[in-house]
Amino acid sequence: MKRKIIWIVPAVLIVIAGGVFGFVKLRHTEPLICLDAGHGGKDTGAMTEDGRLEKDDNLAMTLAVGKILEDKGYQVIYTRTDDSTVSLEERYTLSNKKHATVFVAIHRNSAENEAASGIEAWIKNTSPVPDRKLATNILKQLDRVGFGIDRGVCAGYRGDLTKNYAVNAHTKCKSCLLELGFMSNKLDNERFDQNFDAYAEAIAKGIIRSL
Ligand SMILES: [Zn+2]
Repeated sequence: MKRKIIWIVPAVLIVIAGGVFGFVKLRHTEPLICLDAGHGGKDTGAMTEDGRLEKDDNLAMTLAVGKILEDKGYQVIYTRTDDSTVSLEERYTLSNKKHATVFVAIHRNSAENEAASGIEAWIKNTSPVPDRKLATNILKQLDRVGFGIDRGVCAGYRGDLTKNYAVNAHTKCKSCLLELGFMSNKLDNERFDQNFDAYAEAIAKGIIRSL
């Protein structure tokens, strides 16, 4: 009889612990922030005449934003943390698989017209309400630091508003794609470098306000 009890007690404890662990794992109530550094590896994104690459700016800013959020105790996942090639599908699949609460893609803009300047955010054109709030909150914080012209929140895909950026179209959570100034504009690049830390803080704050 005693022998039986000795075995039953740890067995019951293991079942209870397993159940609790499983419950916590399945239902994370904490927000999970997925940060997506645009481009990477073979895909450089935009490029300046002196060889500055968009993929590097995107990664540096993404890691800085993530560090601020992690230091504040938020859970963050990244589609890339180094200069690797990541497909668009891999990016939104990671976010969906991990059940992210919010997805923010970080990019920099480029245009033929060197005078084009400022920040903008893109959201999907099918469910604009929570996405628009996220994008608006981030732009509002960036505006406080000052990033030239606020080009506002746009729904769809640049060049065709009936389409969407893949990372916006296929992520199941609220999402937006940020364009942090034009790489084709010298002043925007200077702003990006001089206010780098302040922009990272602003993006993090905008995300936190949207959780
Ligand atoms: Zn880009």
